[in-house]
Amino acid sequence: MMSEAASALALPIVVLADAPTDAAALVTRDVVLGSARSADDLAGLAARCDVMTFDHEQVDLDALGQLEHLGHRIRPGTQTLHMAVDKAVMRSTLEAAGIPVPAFALLAASERGEHLSAIASFADSHRWPIVVKSARGGYDGKGVWIVPSLEEAAPVLEKIEGDIVLEEYVSIDAELATLVVRRPGGQIASWPTVETAQIDGVCREVLVPGTLDPSVAEEAAELGRRVAELAQAVGVFAVELFWSNGTLLVNEVAARPHNSGHWTIDGSETSQFENHLRAVLDLPLGGTERTAAHVASVNVFGGPSATDPAEHLGEALSVKGARIHLYGKGARPGRKLGHVTVCGDTAGEVRARAWEAAEALGAVRPTQIELVEP
Ligand code: ADP
Repeated sequence: MMSEAASALALPIVVLADAPTDAAALVTRDVVLGSARSADDLAGLAARCDVMTFDHEQVDLDALGQLEHLGHRIRPGTQTLHMAVDKAVMRSTLEAAGIPVPAFALLAASERGEHLSAIASFADSHRWPIVVKSARGGYDGKGVWIVPSLEEAAPVLEKIEGDIVLEEYVSIDAELATLVVRRPGGQIASWPTVETAQIDGVCREVLVPGTLDPSVAEEAAELGRRVAELAQAVGVFAVELFWSNGTLLVNEVAARPHNSGHWTIDGSETSQFENHLRAVLDLPLGGTERTAAHVASVNVFGGPSATDPAEHLGEALSVKGARIHLYGKGARPGRKLGHVTVCGDTAGEVRARAWEAAEALGAVRPTQIELVEP
């Protein structure tokens, strides 16, 4: 999606991709095959670029630090990436700056022997269940475990190699996300706060505006801008929040275009992808206003039969106003294969149509996500 935005502005892009079938490689002419975890591959890419930027977090930070040291422009910089890539760094940086976060404790990988007793005492003060997170490498809920008892903690600990973050289990009334974009000189803008429907750690639907009072959305946006400043972000920076018992807590951040911002392609003056490119190239930012009263975006995950969504494109396209984005990935149950965005006048209507198109493409609407009559 970043390549599509680059193409419109004739910005030449080189993509570092693991395989020629990666979604980004399929739509970019200039592809370097290699790994973002390999110092050599990153150096090879840097040699060909004026600016290096990211659309995922599985990167070798030490290698990027070396490249930065050699004078390559890495945007966002490694200081920002470090906070986004490592949940332990994220939690401690946010807490030290007085940003509200869930209660947490950090368990260093080097203190394996102490982990079970640390969990027991954390649960004593915060009660079961607790949330155990791998500090690095998680996404879409992989690397997050809700642990109901000490007996069930042991097998979870075995799955984690590095540092661990323990968190209180927050009673979540709504999940929000706010998307900020920032230029190297500090110019900053944010899109309207969205409400996300997360099932089993995975974002299934994004609604703009959400259902909460607009003052909560504004408070979330303000927190998002504070966190982006704190992180010295450059480019798009996403902040995910919990709304719990009348309070906002920052859950996590991402220093890149984010799934909660895919709606901006069709529902905002400037998409997150275009503004990300503008920001990392230090060009003027585009407007971030939404262009419709209501916008819903639904992720298309492969259903149990793993049918290729492209086979049902006609049915999906016949849903009025449905903007379909398919990523060209092979269909597998549970794999994120695309998204659908609908803009319109009421929340009920845009949600119903976005789900209708997503279901035509093979997505299955979880029972927890209810639709009301438009
Ligand atoms: P990931 O990096 O994989 O997206 P997150 O830390 O965002 O992981 O957690 C994924 C989801 O798990 C969240 O969207 C939320 O629904 C749930 N979750 C995470 N942390 C907590 C918590 N402390 N209390 C309750 N639920 C949580």
